Amino acid sequence: MSLEDARLRDAADPLRAYRQRFHLPDGVIYLDGNSLGALPRATLARLEQVMRAEWGERLIRSWNDTGPNDDGAKDDGANDTGWIRYPQRVGAKIAALVGAAPDEVIACDTVSVNLFKLIGAALAMQPGRKVILSEPGNFPTDLYMIAGLEKQGLAQRRLAAPDAIEAALDGEVALLMLTHVHYKSGRMHDMVRLTQAAQDAGALVLWDLSHSGGALPVDLDGCNADFAVGCGYKYLNGGPGAPAYAFVAARHHAALSQPLTGWMGHAQPFAFSDDYRPAPGVDRLLAGTPGILGLAALEVGVDLIAEIGIDRLAQKSRQLSEFFRACVTDRAPDLELVSPRDPLARGSQLSFRHDEAYAICQALIARGIIGDFRDPDILRFGFAPAYVSFEDAFMAAENLAHIIATREWDAPRFKARSAVT
Ligand SMILES: *Cc1c(COP(=O)(O)O)cnc(C)c1O
Repeated sequence: MSLEDARLRDAADPLRAYRQRFHLPDGVIYLDGNSLGALPRATLARLEQVMRAEWGERLIRSWNDTGPNDDGAKDDGANDTGWIRYPQRVGAKIAALVGAAPDEVIACDTVSVNLFKLIGAALAMQPGRKVILSEPGNFPTDLYMIAGLEKQGLAQRRLAAPDAIEAALDGEVALLMLTHVHYKSGRMHDMVRLTQAAQDAGALVLWDLSHSGGALPVDLDGCNADFAVGCGYKYLNGGPGAPAYAFVAARHHAALSQPLTGWMGHAQPFAFSDDYRPAPGVDRLLAGTPGILGLAALEVGVDLIAEIGIDRLAQKSRQLSEFFRACVTDRAPDLELVSPRDPLARGSQLSFRHDEAYAICQALIARGIIGDFRDPDILRFGFAPAYVSFEDAFMAAENLAHIIATREWDAPRFKARSAVT
């Protein structure tokens, strides 16, 4: 694998023009879109419009305005295009990316908060069962949100390694809660098989799509999932701390009862009644006032991913990660691959183990190559296919091998840890 090979692949890449739709800094190779997606250029103009025209000029009237270019001729009553329906509108667009119906997804809050709401909702639907089954080493917040409900006496945590999950599904399990693509290793669960196994045991299933939504095909309705959550700031490019999303299968809408019963999830928030009455369907997942700036930025990212198309993204993702793997295998054969060798069994990332992973990651960053480190010894490279090129992958592998071969990482400045790693 040579630089020439990389350039030939870029020239033949049907997605190559989309790189220009993102702002990518000069001199940087960005392989961390699985932690914070890049900035779509259109986001700058859209946020300026929301701030100047919708917030600045229209002020509170924008909650009901009929659209971004509304002339303000009428201010009366809620409608489907003002700020007030933004969580549902963005949710419907995300739904199309994850195999859900438009009214099954809403964009709001964070993944953590949505997990809490949906675990609570699942427990309320499973009288007599309170075990939440997950896996050790799941993303921390997913496990911590179970811990919070456990402390209140509502839930009981059970962990089973990936190959022991089916055996751990007994009559006590209320909910199987897993992350589709593992954040550290990139290993992908079989959603169809595990959803079926859990439901056969009388459990409900909640999938965390943070590392798959927007990068890989997901078919929530096709696999009969009950609940799901996912992240807005990774492959959806919604910006730091972007709203997350939550999915509830339509068959559960009538019975859905979640514990964060805030006024925005009320059937009539502006009736200001003393008593809570849930809004229909996923609307009742709202708790407080939606963050409009965040939703506006997220919408631009989602529109761009939808325009490119998940199938094309997934295909390029596999080609990129296979190309990177081949380059690394050529140049640094001793580096241990932690991700599955089969591209169909992993997400849009490759992880490697090295005792000096942290220092290597810092040495790469000093050379303008941004991947990331995951405690204690994992080097992780994300291949956001919308904007990463084969040349990026080649240069990253070349520099990685150089840093390892020359022990460039072995310097005090590469060993000091910052707050965010
Ligand atoms: C990124 C990520 C989250 C993020 O949660 P927030 O509450 O939105 O910060 C949660 N779960 C997984 C699996 C993730 O990868």
